[in-house]
Amino acid sequence: MSCMYCDPQNENRKNILIEVGRLPHSTLFILKNQNHLGRVVVALNTHRQEVYELTEEERNGFFADVAAVSKAVSELFHPDKLNYGIFGDGVPHVHMHIVPKYKDQLQWGNFFWDKGIEEVKLTDEQYAQMVQQYKDKLGIK
Ligand SMILES: [Zn+2]
Repeated sequence: MSCMYCDPQNENRKNILIEVGRLPHSTLFILKNQNHLGRVVVALNTHRQEVYELTEEERNGFFADVAAVSKAVSELFHPDKLNYGIFGDGVPHVHMHIVPKYKDQLQWGNFFWDKGIEEVKLTDEQYAQMVQQYKDKLGIK
């Protein structure tokens, strides 16, 4: 199976992600499952499996993108804390989950996980609005 961050036609990608657009070193996606409102993934624009495989420029650039996106998440959705996760057992392409956490709501005070947790889906109009909010905030064309 193709890598869903490298292949825009990948079926799993179509099922779980919506592309917002490209940043200098990464591509921003919102997750269709919005059980943490505003949740996004920042995926490196080059296929690398492990963080230590990134060049210095990629590493610095990727983290600069993560910083810009995390600021956008905070300003748009006002979470009490952001969680950041790099896993990749299922999709071994360096990507970071940025998960807004809200005090006393889902998984507050704990790490985030999806297994066994009911998915929260938005309407197509709401997804489109969220994509536009991120584009505007980050200056993505
Ligand atoms: Zn890839």
